[in-house]
Amino acid sequence: MGTVIPLWEPPSLPVSGSADRFPVRRIYCVGRNYAAHAREMGADPDREPPFFFTKPADALVQDGEPMPYPPQTAELHHEIELVVAIGHGGRTIPEAAALDHVFGYGVGLDMTRRDLQQAAKAKGRPWDMAKGFDRSAPIGSLAPAATSGHPDTAAIRLRVNGAVRQEGDIADMIWSVPETIAHLSGLVDLAPGDLIMTGTPEGVAGVLPGDLMEGEVAGVGTIRTPVAPR
Ligand code: MN
Repeated sequence: MGTVIPLWEPPSLPVSGSADRFPVRRIYCVGRNYAAHAREMGADPDREPPFFFTKPADALVQDGEPMPYPPQTAELHHEIELVVAIGHGGRTIPEAAALDHVFGYGVGLDMTRRDLQQAAKAKGRPWDMAKGFDRSAPIGSLAPAATSGHPDTAAIRLRVNGAVRQEGDIADMIWSVPETIAHLSGLVDLAPGDLIMTGTPEGVAGVLPGDLMEGEVAGVGTIRTPVAPR
């Protein structure tokens, strides 16, 4: 069967220690999942249920590739995050079984046009153009849980031009990975290829063309993303 327009390759990520790739279906993101970051954004971090937004799968930027400074913003912010890769789908997944659905973990940047997000919040409008724009999701290679395990405590850190901007521990997430999978799978069916960006610690701030972002979650992986001119 032919297609009336050229068929595209599914976006994908490399898998650590393998020549195989992980095809990406959807990218879900958790909002305000570290208390100190919720406070710096002017929100109350008490355990309100987690909320989610999305980025298109083709917003992926491969490790080491430049991210061009996007249009229509003067405030491009970094958010370093642990990324969960779903290997087995499901709906209404109980917390106790959630980790059985995880293929592995990576490190990503939830790049944000903060000025557009603040304007959207003020008017009660959607965040899509603030969060889900082109090349808004640099994500590094995935470490398979089968060989690397499931991290529940690990330093998470982002450097810009060598200076530490964000530093925390994934143990400080308000909603753990199993809790997040349980909540999200009650809202949508999860499927193999889905990614979940699990929120960012405090210290979000702007970057400019020429800056180099280098992120890591200890024992999980790294992401290196230069910011290129518009
Ligand atoms: Mn985020």
